[in-house]
Amino acid sequence: MIDYTKPARVRFAPSPTGFLHLGGARTALFDYLLAKKTGGQFILRIEDTDRKRYVEGAEEEIINSLKWLGVNWDEGPDIGGEYGPYRQSERKEIYQRYAEQLIEQGQAYYCFCSGERLNAVRVEQQKRKENPHYDGTCREIPLEEARQRVTNGEKHVVRFKMPKEGSITVKDVIRGEITVENAQLDDYIIVKSDGLALYHLAASVDDHLMNITHVIRGSEWLPTFPLHGHIHRALGWQEPAYVHLSVFLKPSGKGKMSKREAADLTKDGYSIFIKDLEGLGYIPEAVNNWIALMGWSFDDHTEYFTKADLIEKFNLEKLNPSPAAINFTKLDHFNGVHIRQLDSGDLAERIKPYLEKEGFRTDKEKLKEIAPIIRERLVTLDDAVGFAGFFFKDKIEPSPEDLIQKGMDKPQTIIMMEQIISIMKMKQGCPLEEMEEELRGLIEKTGFSAGQIFGIMRIAITGQKVSPPLFESINIISQNLSIRRMENGLNILKGTS
Ligand code: GLU
Repeated sequence: MIDYTKPARVRFAPSPTGFLHLGGARTALFDYLLAKKTGGQFILRIEDTDRKRYVEGAEEEIINSLKWLGVNWDEGPDIGGEYGPYRQSERKEIYQRYAEQLIEQGQAYYCFCSGERLNAVRVEQQKRKENPHYDGTCREIPLEEARQRVTNGEKHVVRFKMPKEGSITVKDVIRGEITVENAQLDDYIIVKSDGLALYHLAASVDDHLMNITHVIRGSEWLPTFPLHGHIHRALGWQEPAYVHLSVFLKPSGKGKMSKREAADLTKDGYSIFIKDLEGLGYIPEAVNNWIALMGWSFDDHTEYFTKADLIEKFNLEKLNPSPAAINFTKLDHFNGVHIRQLDSGDLAERIKPYLEKEGFRTDKEKLKEIAPIIRERLVTLDDAVGFAGFFFKDKIEPSPEDLIQKGMDKPQTIIMMEQIISIMKMKQGCPLEEMEEELRGLIEKTGFSAGQIFGIMRIAITGQKVSPPLFESINIISQNLSIRRMENGLNILKGTS
């Protein structure tokens, strides 16, 4: 039984090797939810000990993406906290201390094997169809001698001295107990030749020193999970609760997404990177709702969750260890649903940058009027460009072909446009319902359909075949400008032979 009344201390521990993707965002979200639910703390820790894979600027990008999602931390490299530093590259001496303790206890040892020798060993093992593993050459070097070699400046790493006998049982909250024979485990490197601890030691030490109660992470860490159990036990520490989340599969459900496939996705207007989702017009409320349901469920039917709902309802028991396929159609669905919950002022603010990016000079009041009439139709925020751009255009230039409606010809269209304009002028300044009523009278009188008459107006006034409701649009554009757009459309039509 998990006790949700005890404040949890959880950490999201990304390596700054690239942008925050869906998998990382989901881990961070679950960390955050557990911390908020229990009144605990959410810690951001940057695991940057692998200098070869380090990407300049990645930490900043990850931080920006987390902020955009609203997954905010209580302690971290940017805001500090009682348990800092929160960047592993700044904790080198701490790890060395514990590596030293393990060496002293005979549970770790210096290894001086060169890369070439290790390669040769690997090749031999492959020939014998064995799993690659360290052959133990340096395992029995007397500590005195090893220390002397280290003092002499000989290049070395530190390895964990895995017991040859027995087994270890580690426990995952959603997968239960996992028992592995120690003989199956390697003498893993825990400190590299540059003196920096490897993930296994660094994360174990930090999780302990930072008082982490729950380690939520990707299931790629399952194979080395027993090693983490060994490290904790060798140092006499109690282990946190471990949760290894499900893997993400590509939308087809067949296999994990490759780098190339991930890049190809952007052509379809999707991405697995959080920083792209904003540009594509997704809102964080929807993204959080969507990713929460990849590998977690509340019951078998509830789908809509606000962040507050998630904090209240999230639990570890309902996490599903089976792989989850990424379903972008679902993201579109959630985005539309969450957009419809935004009030007009909020939606106006959010669509503004998308319109401005396309070169429209918007104004706040007008956007607020537009928001309610396009809200129902938006799937992404950048759909607003297509639906609402015409409100901010100086001029609409409809093509004659578009103006002439199905079942009508050019002379008929010209006559109808003239009549529409005269009605609009006659009713200018009156409530729009009156203008509409008069136009409906025209429809009755001429026998043309509402689709045809309003179709002409829609093209002339908005420049598009699909638009928000016509009269509400006229209201926002102003009757005066709408009349001028009709006149301009008429001129265009007349000017063509
Ligand atoms: N730095 C590890 C990663 O980025 C974190 C794993 C963990 O959460 O322990 O995969």
